[in-house]
Amino acid sequence: MSNFRVYNFAAGPSVLPLSVLERAGSEISSYRGCGMSVMEMSHRSKMFMDIFQRTQDKLRRLMNIPQNYHILFLQTGASGQFSMIPLNLIGGTGRACYAVTGNFSGLAAQEAKKYGEVSLACDTGDRGHCYIPRQDGLRVDPQADYFYYCANNTIYGTEWDYIPDAGGLPLVCDMSSNILSVPVDVSKFGVIYAGAQKNMAPAGLTVVIIKDGLQGHELPCTPLMMSYKTMIDKGSMYNTPPCWCIYMLGLTLDWVEENGGLEGMEKLKRLRAGMLYDTLESSRLFQLHADRDSRSGMNVTFRTGSEDLDGKFVQEAAAAGFVNLKGHRLTGGMRASIYNAMPVEGVEKLCDFIRAFDKNN
Ligand SMILES: *Cc1c(COP(=O)(O)O)cnc(C)c1O
Repeated sequence: MSNFRVYNFAAGPSVLPLSVLERAGSEISSYRGCGMSVMEMSHRSKMFMDIFQRTQDKLRRLMNIPQNYHILFLQTGASGQFSMIPLNLIGGTGRACYAVTGNFSGLAAQEAKKYGEVSLACDTGDRGHCYIPRQDGLRVDPQADYFYYCANNTIYGTEWDYIPDAGGLPLVCDMSSNILSVPVDVSKFGVIYAGAQKNMAPAGLTVVIIKDGLQGHELPCTPLMMSYKTMIDKGSMYNTPPCWCIYMLGLTLDWVEENGGLEGMEKLKRLRAGMLYDTLESSRLFQLHADRDSRSGMNVTFRTGSEDLDGKFVQEAAAAGFVNLKGHRLTGGMRASIYNAMPVEGVEKLCDFIRAFDKNN
């Protein structure tokens, strides 16, 4: 086995804690000496059910999820929720209200239009999605069945620093790229969901946290597999769940707990982001994409203003062991994703690299 590791700034799938990978590696062919891998077990076996239950319990404990919320371990990615949310929640007035602050909330709003009437609480596309509106900039449709937003815009590098007040409508939130990075008051939400491959586990698992009572009102056309009620009634096991990813999530949650829980994660997040933004701000060469008060603590987007120089930066960084810094094709430039598992040391060294590049170019 090779021990070579780079500093991986990929937006997702992304870096996992080394200790989690090593633990999984040590158990890969015989989980706790049982003679088989977690990948080979029946999802209904006692051994797997135990992994499943402990993972759920750990998530409930770490995020302080109230008892009247269900935790679901689903598939079809975060994007699957773009459909599942309207299918299940828009059966009341047939209206929904979306805050569009980036690519994924835009796609979610577009998808919801198939099933009902969608109004936009905001659309930050007017300034290249470089900001998050304040509360008084949101137009909430009081008749909507729910209010939807995306807590962290992975591509543009902006993050909500407050929970919007939707006047009592169920709040639905895509937390794919910042879940487990700060404590959140789950009781304020109707649905929280996240694709696992940014901050939790390998790709293939979508975590959904849903308040009891929101299920059971799906549109008649809702596919069985897209019904929250089906999955709640069957404990996420109407069909085979993504067993390996659930096991990996459990290991990541152990790691989060050992590192101070969500308070600990928030401290590290502020430390990493603070260093990187300070370094970029004090450079001559680099400009930040996001407005100061809207900056993401997870995805830092920046550019030099010259495509050639951006390319040179990405290439030289990769050669120095800092990989996947190329920005998304929608924004160009660079993006450093600094999720929970990115070691502080990785950001320190990247900052040194940025300072040197700034001096030499
Ligand atoms: C990555 C991402 C998605 C899409 O996730 P998939 O699992 O690939 O469908 C949706 N929303 C946000 C905020 C993301 O970061």
